[in-house]
Amino acid sequence: MTEPQAKKPKKPRGVARLLDGRCIACGARCQSSCPVNCIEMTDTGEPVIEGAKCIGCLKCVKICPSTAIEMYFTPEEQKILDELAGSAVPVVEEIDDEAAALAKKLADYRGVWVFVEQTEGEPARVSWELLGVGAGLAHTLGVELSALVIGHNVEHLCGEAFAHGASKAYLMDAPVYKNYRTEAYVEACCHLIETWKPEVILMGATGMGRDLAGAIATRVATGLTADCTGLAIDDKRNLMQTRPAFGGNIMATIMCDKFRPQMSTVRPNVMPMPEYKQGAQGTIVRDAFSVPEENILTKVIEIIHDAHGKGAVDITAAEFIVSGGRGMMGPENFAILKELADELGGVVGASRSAVDAGWMPGDRQVGQTGKTVRPKIYVACGISGAIQHLVGMQDSDMVIAINRDRQAPIFEVATYGIVGDLFQVIPAITKRIRELKKQGQGARGKGQVESN
Ligand code: FAD
Repeated sequence: MTEPQAKKPKKPRGVARLLDGRCIACGARCQSSCPVNCIEMTDTGEPVIEGAKCIGCLKCVKICPSTAIEMYFTPEEQKILDELAGSAVPVVEEIDDEAAALAKKLADYRGVWVFVEQTEGEPARVSWELLGVGAGLAHTLGVELSALVIGHNVEHLCGEAFAHGASKAYLMDAPVYKNYRTEAYVEACCHLIETWKPEVILMGATGMGRDLAGAIATRVATGLTADCTGLAIDDKRNLMQTRPAFGGNIMATIMCDKFRPQMSTVRPNVMPMPEYKQGAQGTIVRDAFSVPEENILTKVIEIIHDAHGKGAVDITAAEFIVSGGRGMMGPENFAILKELADELGGVVGASRSAVDAGWMPGDRQVGQTGKTVRPKIYVACGISGAIQHLVGMQDSDMVIAINRDRQAPIFEVATYGIVGDLFQVIPAITKRIRELKKQGQGARGKGQVESN
């Protein structure tokens, strides 16, 4: 004979009630969160909760910014709660239908995807950086890391994606995708998303990535966080997307916990390059989906390469950067930075103050609204180290800061700090490098003579 099973007790849900003197009249957030319309607002902006209608869903309690709402239990309900707390019998939690439907919807989406950006078959480096961070996310989630390769004659990029960590590549190769056009790429990406349902999609925060990510997020009705500087997974499989907010004064972590896929863009050089595994293999999933050319309004007539041509300076690719700020006092003084940069084989960068003052062109600006750089050595001269500047250079391998104010925040991220007048320090460093180079050449010359 089987033992009669103990009747599982139901956990009482209680009703919401307002605590005296705690409401801050935040703007009726509790009222708008209530699914059964049991909250009315007074003229002073405080809620009046109709207990008889309350279903104890806790939404108003959770949303209240001043913890002014609590759950009230009758003495009988409280007694059951106390008994349950001390009982070994499992409690039957009433599952919120809405939450259950949401959990089911989210569970349909699996996998981390990285969009491989290319122009005329040339990949953008940021795509590989994203595969690096994507691998960590995929590992935490226990899912595959896939590359999204779209273009014409771009199959070679699948192999490159495998070498940078992807184990699968979704390939759409057709003449209509030869040049990037928003309509064609959005159609292609949305088709793949609807078919395979990835839970995370990463794209470079480049001109193309920003355009495409925004259009896709709108089409598939999900959230998009731009210019992330940090990505991680929480214990509910949500992507924690960290980025500067309020002008860079705080770092905000943004979640998209009710919609999938979760989409982020990341600027070039923010994430480190992953290890390159020559000959790594993966699975290519070919999809013949194509968009009729006549459906696309944009036509590419000619590709005109960057007007600056070969003379243009790309500070994001430089290994050595000597940057100047407002402490340079004027455009003519940037000549001493150029001399030092030339000796190092590097380029001159600038803070926004220097750019805003017209001392340096905008493409040299480092920081939140400029470029993100990751050189081997970053020399900051007369730059205070505002957070908006730091987010653009703090991942450099080595930072050397020269500032006459020993309290300047730039010293907090500096590997070496020199407190002094840059007009004395920089020429002295340049002079010393020249001397050392001369000595080196002399020693090499001597060595050759001796060996002859
Ligand atoms: P200052 O803060 O004025 O610092 C000048 C420094 O030079 C001082 O520390 C001073 O001690 C030192 N100095 C002066 N003379 C000498 C000398 N003879 N020798 C040695 N040291 C000397 N800023 C960026 O750089 N990049 C960005 O992308 C960026 N984006 C922004 C986005 C937003 C939304 C906002 C609100 C701001 C942004 N800023 C950005 C501006 C940022 O907040 C700072 O105002 C700026 O970085 C300051 O530039 P600076 O360090 O050159 O000037």
